Amino acid sequence: MKKLLAVLAVAFPIGAQAALVDDVRNWRAGHEAEIVARLSELTRLRSVAADPEGLTNTANRLLALLKERGFAAQLLPAAGAPPVVFAELKAPGAKRTVTFYAHYDGQPVTPSEWHSEPFTPTMRPGKMESGKGDARGIDMKTAKPPFDPEWRLFGRAAGDDKSSIAAFLAAFDALKAAGRAPSVNIKVVWEGEEERGSAHLEAVLRGNRALLASDLWLIGDGPMHQSRTPTLYFGARGSMGLEAVIYGPLSALHDGHYGNWVPNPAAMAAEFITALRDSEGGIAIPGFSSDVRPLTAAETQAIAELPPVEAALKQEFGIGRSEGAAGLTASTMRPAINVRGFRAGQVGAQAANAIPTEAAVSFDFRLVPGQTPANVRKKVEDYIKAKGWTVVTADPDAAMRAAHGRIVKLAWGGGYAALRSDMDSPAAKAVIASAGRAAGTKLALLPMMGGSVPINMFEDVFHVPIIGLPIANHDNNQHAADENLRLANLWAGIEVYAGLMADLNW
Ligand SMILES: [Zn+2]
Repeated sequence: MKKLLAVLAVAFPIGAQAALVDDVRNWRAGHEAEIVARLSELTRLRSVAADPEGLTNTANRLLALLKERGFAAQLLPAAGAPPVVFAELKAPGAKRTVTFYAHYDGQPVTPSEWHSEPFTPTMRPGKMESGKGDARGIDMKTAKPPFDPEWRLFGRAAGDDKSSIAAFLAAFDALKAAGRAPSVNIKVVWEGEEERGSAHLEAVLRGNRALLASDLWLIGDGPMHQSRTPTLYFGARGSMGLEAVIYGPLSALHDGHYGNWVPNPAAMAAEFITALRDSEGGIAIPGFSSDVRPLTAAETQAIAELPPVEAALKQEFGIGRSEGAAGLTASTMRPAINVRGFRAGQVGAQAANAIPTEAAVSFDFRLVPGQTPANVRKKVEDYIKAKGWTVVTADPDAAMRAAHGRIVKLAWGGGYAALRSDMDSPAAKAVIASAGRAAGTKLALLPMMGGSVPINMFEDVFHVPIIGLPIANHDNNQHAADENLRLANLWAGIEVYAGLMADLNW
């Protein structure tokens, strides 16, 4: 490593007049193979919940990578969860401290759904769906940089969220090679339980409040805006799951002999869904949105200035209409009731002419600032009861079923609230300016990400601004088969990370 840096110092002498972003870009151009190899190495580590050893190995490897770079690094044990990788680097003269958050765990995998083994990083010229993909991929042993920036590295967690870790490490190396010191004290929090809901993280944060204290959290997670414009987000919607079971007769009944007289739970479930949400995504529960905190003028303005993506996304997704007339981001500023799944009886060749015994519906509520999981739950249950449903929390017995016409069993998931940080805070303004300089373009500023990450926890514990810094391509298949990271996104991410490390101040 020392030898490498010495060579670089000749190529890019310290004190050169080049702008920060040029230094970083030049360094990246000379190190593409090394950067991809690092991301590949991290992707090979099986950091999924099903593989506790893989998670431990990943934490240890990240610890070593941070120590090699001069960070004071340690593992913070999380009882019942993989350790949190914590590191700190003081910058001489810096008055602010910034925590860079990412997660090193990935979603579970179903290898049979993948075109290549999920933990064997595979480079391809594009998405599999675009027909560019060859399952075997590009031979990286013979591929020569510069790599086509449209190439994508496939593997679990390559995009979500090891891309952020790889970008951080490369950005740091680029600055070091250019002889540029960080402008802020840097803290690193890389957790290993995000994909399971970060249930143990808050205890770690509260137990290490002084060690983790900082002036700002930058959340390296989530996808970039669909326009592929470098993006910042200032919050995220909250989330809460709900499983509902609706009951029919005790045993399936011939629908010729009994249809029109015995209530059909599949039809009741459809009615139940449309009582909650209409076909435009509107929530039909009176007063459901009365707690919702309205958007500020700055937030409304930021949404209006986003590059339009709706027409292109309709093509990409193969959808002939959108729910409601507002654009994508405006629509995801509202609370939502999504239907994750619906099961009753059988279809196709298995279909029987029978009234099923029950129907199950899985819902996913998205919360916005002002709402709490407890309030949402109460409003939904009050409304369902007012609509004539008997709400239970355990399977009803035969007597119970005979006594009530409409029974629904509800099982709520834990859930957490949303966060929308102030886009006008001094820290936010400094981040917008610094990231904008690094990106060299107008940023996509999202008041809140539609998807949920439990970042309200960071604000609850530390009461400092929380800003999201996503770099993965929006079409990265995160949480699905064939997860991938587009190289252009990694390159841009390195520049923004380096900009924020070396240029941020307020
Ligand atoms: Zn993630």
